[in-house]
Amino acid sequence: MRPLPVRFHQSRPRRRPASLRGSAVQVSRESWRTRREAAWSVSCCLGDRAQEALAGRTAAQFVCKHTPPEHGTRRAQNAFRAPAYRVTCRAYAPVGSAFRRALSKYAAPPVSARLLILGWHNVAGTYGFPSAPGRGEHGLEQQLSILARTANVLPLEETLERMYRGEHLPSRAVALTFDDGYRDNLTLAAPILERLGLPATFFLVPGLLSGEVDAWWETIGWALQSSTSESILWEGMSFALTAQDGRDLAYSQIVRRLKRRDSQARATTMRELLEMLEPTGDPPDLFMDWQGARELVERGFSVQSHTCSHVVLAEEDVESQRRELTEAKRLLEKNLDIDISIIAYPHGGPQDYSADTVTLAGEAEYRWGVTTREAFTTSAVPALETRRCVIYPERGVVDLLAQLRYLFRPRPRGARS
Ligand SMILES: [Zn+2]
Repeated sequence: MRPLPVRFHQSRPRRRPASLRGSAVQVSRESWRTRREAAWSVSCCLGDRAQEALAGRTAAQFVCKHTPPEHGTRRAQNAFRAPAYRVTCRAYAPVGSAFRRALSKYAAPPVSARLLILGWHNVAGTYGFPSAPGRGEHGLEQQLSILARTANVLPLEETLERMYRGEHLPSRAVALTFDDGYRDNLTLAAPILERLGLPATFFLVPGLLSGEVDAWWETIGWALQSSTSESILWEGMSFALTAQDGRDLAYSQIVRRLKRRDSQARATTMRELLEMLEPTGDPPDLFMDWQGARELVERGFSVQSHTCSHVVLAEEDVESQRRELTEAKRLLEKNLDIDISIIAYPHGGPQDYSADTVTLAGEAEYRWGVTTREAFTTSAVPALETRRCVIYPERGVVDLLAQLRYLFRPRPRGARS
């Protein structure tokens, strides 16, 4: 589990970090664009000691230890020498409250009380979510590179902890998440995240990790693409499968209906559908196993729960929901030797989890629940129903910009409460 970085401004890749002399903190590879940002970075670096100084108890002994970074860009070094930096430091000295008040408008960091949580699933195309070869990886790299340069990407769990404790976040705070445990999260997404130095949380499903659960939305996609039948008649609907358009239509209609059943009814329907479709070959093997999950943890990423077998919780009875929530937590904690505190509800829309689900998640000792209801998360949002925007890697910059618009609007349009 990664600690919250001392400084929030996102590091740029390929530049050496620069230390602040005489201090344990590091100011690495700055990307400050304004004096206010420089001031905020410095105040983050000083942390609690800055708070003490602001209260007038300690003074310049740590302020004067700091020198401009020896490495980094000229802009970063200039930012350190800029008046805002000096003002910030001097404001910490016990020079009288009136003077501090007068300076406070310069020293005040650009802070925010809201967090944008972004959620990805698979990176490369699959039967369920097809895309051209290489497009998903390229699009994800573009999206993450832009975020690394424009947003403050923070680790989800620590950031929720701080936000719900009442602390402010830096402006443009973003947390990255990946659902379901597609193997390409490990092989494609993790290397990009590491290269850019971005923290991320992976919501995994024990049943998929052990291979005991069928990812039905992928299996049905594969069965439609590999079907030897020219058409099927299912639940009063007829689908022609000879052309791609017909298979796409069948996929969307069937998935929409299957989502609204409990796991047992869905398994029965899946057997019927597979008999009708008579697919050739083997179903795809798209998900990482326990070893892959361990690797994510060892590489410093956060792993959290996405239920035991990826059921639609609102469609399950209370006992089944309880089992899905508690077993997933227990298995992930036991097999990966980590603490689980966040549940991402499968599918995550308002119709996919219920009031019972939220109560049961609290009883199962989850501290936060993540939905796919599109909006910022603030401390006013219930902790077990945090908001999140789903983003598609193959759509690249366009989809990212669609999500980033929330960063610049105080009250995002279309946000559900
Ligand atoms: Zn999922």
